[in-house]
Amino acid sequence: MNNYKTEILIIGGGIAGCIAAISLADSFKVTVVDKLALPADKVGESLAPAAQRILNKLQLLPDEETQKSLFINNLGMQSYWGNDSVQIVDHLRNPDGFSKSLDRKKFEVYLRDKAIEKGVTCCWGLRFFNSIFEDNLWKVTCKSDDLKNRTTTIFNADFVIDATGRSAHFAKSLQIKRTSLDALISCWITLPNKEENAMSTIVSDENGWWYTAVLPNNQRVLSYQTDADLFEKSIFKNIDSFLELIKKNKRIYSYVEKAIDQLQFHGTVSANSTKLDKVAGKQWLVLGDAAISFDPLSSQGMFNAMACAMQVTELLKHFNFIKEYDIAKVYRFSEVYTSQINSIWKHYVKHKDLFYGAESRWKDAIFWKRRQVGVLKNEFAL
Ligand SMILES: Cc1cc2nc3c(=O)[nH]c(=O)nc-3n(C[C@H](O)[C@H](O)[C@H](O)COP(=O)(O)OP(=O)(O)OC[C@H]3O[C@@H](n4cnc5c(N)ncnc54)[C@H](O)[C@@H]3O)c2cc1C
Repeated sequence: MNNYKTEILIIGGGIAGCIAAISLADSFKVTVVDKLALPADKVGESLAPAAQRILNKLQLLPDEETQKSLFINNLGMQSYWGNDSVQIVDHLRNPDGFSKSLDRKKFEVYLRDKAIEKGVTCCWGLRFFNSIFEDNLWKVTCKSDDLKNRTTTIFNADFVIDATGRSAHFAKSLQIKRTSLDALISCWITLPNKEENAMSTIVSDENGWWYTAVLPNNQRVLSYQTDADLFEKSIFKNIDSFLELIKKNKRIYSYVEKAIDQLQFHGTVSANSTKLDKVAGKQWLVLGDAAISFDPLSSQGMFNAMACAMQVTELLKHFNFIKEYDIAKVYRFSEVYTSQINSIWKHYVKHKDLFYGAESRWKDAIFWKRRQVGVLKNEFAL
């Protein structure tokens, strides 16, 4: 059994975990663990223009050659939402420039490498197992994913950051519950892009909405967002059944038909708006999707994860209880962080309601009824 001491242990090396690690590394001894030896394929790739400021501040803007494989400029968004004519939002006048369409997996590999360069101790392929709090230290047990030669590692950490995404494994082990506003899921495929128009596109329909965008290497992502209970589950199980659904929407099918033999089916993921009931406690906090997860309509999940990671660094440096232990500061830190997350959540819900409220063509359809303001939320227990 291996035993290590670290000041901050970050569980989860996704976008939230890596950005937190890189920004904290100048001030603290930081360790990151992630259950995956390599990042997984993920849908969720449109990086908001303001994220450039964070990448710039952390000196993470890649050189031109690396950039080409990581992201391409996204000129804007065309939407068929609220009526059948196209609305265009471009980023031409955005002071932060264009949004970026990422190769998500490569971007996460890039961030992991940068964390190592920064001197962060990175342990890939180690899964959070359990924890106990003793003598003002978290003793966190992780196990390797290699079942044949399973190793156990114990980290003694002054502070734990749970950045394990929507599953929030560490917080869950502390019996903290999650509140969900809906049961949105997303089924997604990728295909070679055959269109010249490289704008992202959103198209609403009676039971949800479609999204498609161009990725680096002239790939295209295409997804459908709906509630988990509105269709037979079998529709989202394989490319043949999903293609039948795609064919019903002529506009969306037009992106697919020229590459019909090259569709790659990735499956279905949760895409609902959720919030953990408690986001910070005695020497721990949750970050990114683990704390609050956004509807993909917002395209803000990654930016939120990055911005909150930066904020956590500022707060931990300000309260400074890791170097000089002070229980009053520990509690004050939790209060401030909790109130910041609550404020982000409040703004997010308000904007989400506004966006969904702008579509009124299917007022009586269940999907849209559930999103009308004033409808009882929290009806979906996770
Ligand atoms: C359909 C869809 C579309 C989206 N589109 C966009 C978009 O266009 N733009 C945008 O900004 N956001 C989008 N998002 C949201 C975005 O993907 C998330 O906000 C982002 O992934 C959050 O990053 P994270 O690091 O908090 O969590 P994650 O990316 O989920 O990372 C969690 C990490 O924790 C690790 N982990 C999990 N459990 C354990 C464990 N027990 N032990 C150790 N490690 C563990 C995982 O391997 C993973 O690496 C979308 C989301 C969905 C579902």
